[in-house]
Amino acid sequence: MGKRRSNSLEEHFAAERPEKARKEDPDEDRKARKALKKEKKRNKEKKEKKEKKEKKEKKDKKDKKDKKEQFGASGEETAASFSKDEEEDAHEKRLIDELHQRVNSTPSECPDVPKQTGNNSILLFYAYCPKGDMSRDQQTKAIAHCYETLKSLKCTGRLRIGREGYNGTLTGPSDGVRRFTKELRKWDNATFGQTDFKFVDNQPDKQLLPTLKVFPVTEIVTYGFNPQDAPLNMRGVHLKPQEWHDALTKPDTVVIDVRNFNESLIGKFAPPNNETGKHGAEGTNNLGVVGSAKVLDPGMRKSTDFPVWLDKHKDELEGKKVLMYCTAGVRCERASAFVRKRLNRDEVYQLDGGIHRYLEQYPETGGHWIGKNYVFDKRFSHGADRSTVISQCVNCKEPWERYNAHQKCFRCKMEVLLCNSCQRLKPALPKASLICPLCEAK
Ligand SMILES: [Zn+2]
Ligand SMILES: [Zn+2]
Repeated sequence: MGKRRSNSLEEHFAAERPEKARKEDPDEDRKARKALKKEKKRNKEKKEKKEKKEKKEKKDKKDKKDKKEQFGASGEETAASFSKDEEEDAHEKRLIDELHQRVNSTPSECPDVPKQTGNNSILLFYAYCPKGDMSRDQQTKAIAHCYETLKSLKCTGRLRIGREGYNGTLTGPSDGVRRFTKELRKWDNATFGQTDFKFVDNQPDKQLLPTLKVFPVTEIVTYGFNPQDAPLNMRGVHLKPQEWHDALTKPDTVVIDVRNFNESLIGKFAPPNNETGKHGAEGTNNLGVVGSAKVLDPGMRKSTDFPVWLDKHKDELEGKKVLMYCTAGVRCERASAFVRKRLNRDEVYQLDGGIHRYLEQYPETGGHWIGKNYVFDKRFSHGADRSTVISQCVNCKEPWERYNAHQKCFRCKMEVLLCNSCQRLKPALPKASLICPLCEAK
């Protein structure tokens, strides 16, 4: 073995470069060294890229897990879409939340929303079959038909199809999503003739959902109860926003928020006190005042908690007019039918089009609504122009309404409100100190 050069890099190259070139041609030598250097750089970049990718995958997986825990069996049309599919990811969830926020808000209600420009649209809708459940065969055909149609129109997103009906969040070319709704009406007018299709236009490509999934579900909103216990022909009477507004001022009335607890925390209906003429937020508590409706908050962590809650609290509904509301209306459809059937009651009502439609009617003051409509994404908040913050940071108790910390309750794993200052604390708050108000109350 000959004497080696002292430079370790040289040594490295020497060891690797072709024996022939090393001996015979100094030019070749240089070229080989250069090539190797390049190769080494390439390898390093490749390695870094791979590590980055792995890190991201790991993070996405964790986010996905967190979201799943959070939404396990939630009833919201968006959340429900996330309960079953393994391939869902956090980005998609955020996107759908944004879309739902955007769909029922006009620019004046939502000044924070950046202007979107693009040729795409979002389509949100749900529809129950008016003549009862489809057969399995019809369901299979519906899935195939919708999938083929959407695919041909270059639409993406997800469409849940149960034997009871449809629940979709779709994106695509503005023309494409519209043609899909026309096709649905043509194909099954009994089901889609009256459907409230909601379009949100001018969306950039980045708002397009990445894949198309049309899949079978048992319930289009997950309650976990037998549909026979909540037949749709027994659903509550739909009240238009103005009718709902008036109904909240009536005595002997209870209001049930059918959404999950973390949603109710930042915004809710606060019936006025008829004696003072003030809204719950201004003058009184919002837990029932003389002469107006009394709010009952089931404090649900997921929609499947509802039947359990109802059995425990049915006495409070005794002899009262029952009003029910949710984000966009779909959760009330079965829930109101369930209440009527379970309690053998007729005076059950639901807010038509949900909070979104109500806020469209009362964009400035919010009517009897206080706080914000639930949002995930920090870029969007939805409420009346003059909305107040009704919730607090879980740590410092300062007013706070944005779920932007992605922190969960140490006990029940529901997301908690943590203000920016508390998020920045060094050392970070111990996880065990984050307890949601629902757990704290126990
Ligand atoms: Zn704080
Ligand atoms: Zn908790």
